[in-house]
Amino acid sequence: MKVTDHIKNGNGKTQFSFEILPPLKGENIHSIFENIDPLMDFNPPYINVTYHREEYVFKELDNGLIEKKIVRKRPGTVGICAAIQNRYEVDAVPHILCGGFSKEETENFLIDLQFLGIDNVMALRGDAVKSETYFTPEKNGHKYACDLVLQINALNKGTYLDDELQHTFPTDFCVGVAGYPEKHMEAPSSESDIHFLKKKIKNGAEYIVTQMFFDNEKYFKFVEKCRAEGITVPIIPGLKPIAVKSHLNLIPHRFKVDLPDALVMEVVKARDNKAVRQIGIDWCVQQSKELVKAGVPFLHYYSMGKSSNIKEIASQIF
Ligand SMILES: Cc1cc2nc3c(=O)[nH]c(=O)nc-3n(C[C@H](O)[C@H](O)[C@H](O)COP(=O)(O)OP(=O)(O)OC[C@H]3O[C@@H](n4cnc5c(N)ncnc54)[C@H](O)[C@@H]3O)c2cc1C
Repeated sequence: MKVTDHIKNGNGKTQFSFEILPPLKGENIHSIFENIDPLMDFNPPYINVTYHREEYVFKELDNGLIEKKIVRKRPGTVGICAAIQNRYEVDAVPHILCGGFSKEETENFLIDLQFLGIDNVMALRGDAVKSETYFTPEKNGHKYACDLVLQINALNKGTYLDDELQHTFPTDFCVGVAGYPEKHMEAPSSESDIHFLKKKIKNGAEYIVTQMFFDNEKYFKFVEKCRAEGITVPIIPGLKPIAVKSHLNLIPHRFKVDLPDALVMEVVKARDNKAVRQIGIDWCVQQSKELVKAGVPFLHYYSMGKSSNIKEIASQIF
């Protein structure tokens, strides 16, 4: 079922969803199930599965030359989605990227998803590969998520890349896209970022999931600005609890989001990471309660593959 239909079926009640990462290459899928199992008590109608593109690793050889190796640390997005739908009978929402994909590969990826009975995709540009500063699209690939959304929408109308194909079967994907309450790191202004967010919606996206934020005011202002720009689709808030002290530096650095002073000070004063984990849970519970009051359709939690703190939060909300 489509995410937009799950929202309609919620009849205004806030529902629970979460995002997982495929395991590192070499690890077992059971580590994923062990983290999903406890969260099924809160009836998530869908589970998102992130996509991780290749990275370049540079290794010095004995002869002094540098070898460039291409590695994918977390493959398996499509397989995990199929396993989730099969094991839990809930919808899986795979993330699909511009980065690393030509249009042809994108089309083939979408065909696989359709054959697996997957009804939703989260369309993203992806970041630059770690060794590069700026995002570079694949040869004959997409530069921005709005162009990827356009391709998915064309396929939904039965328009494949090969225009000689006859009697094509249209796909029927519900497309989600990313939104940034604190602006995307590369956007020159929040206005321009919202302008291009609107383009993703115009090109066929039906809902937005936000980057994590730790101050609900940022989300409320973002929604207000989107509505003023004529974006009417659901805007699902994304939440992540702080779990360890090092998150104070890692989260702003990696995701370009601010942490409120009050939260930072509590974490700084915490005795150890056990205390930090509890602070993170309490903060996230307060955020969740206020967002439920505001009538958000879903609370979407970034689990990062660890479910125990998300379970504690969800048990206080759902
Ligand atoms: C909910 C969520 C889930 C995510 N999941 C993943 C994942 O699974 N795997 C992963 O690798 N990354 C993931 N990311 C990270 C994401 O890929 C990065 O934030 C990436 O840098 C931007 O992706 P986007 O789809 O928002 O890009 P876009 O919407 O293409 O925007 C990228 C930048 O370009 C600007 N822009 C957009 N369109 C245009 C245009 N037509 N002309 C000029 N400028 C334009 C925007 O303002 C923005 O600054 C996720 C992010 C979020 C919020």
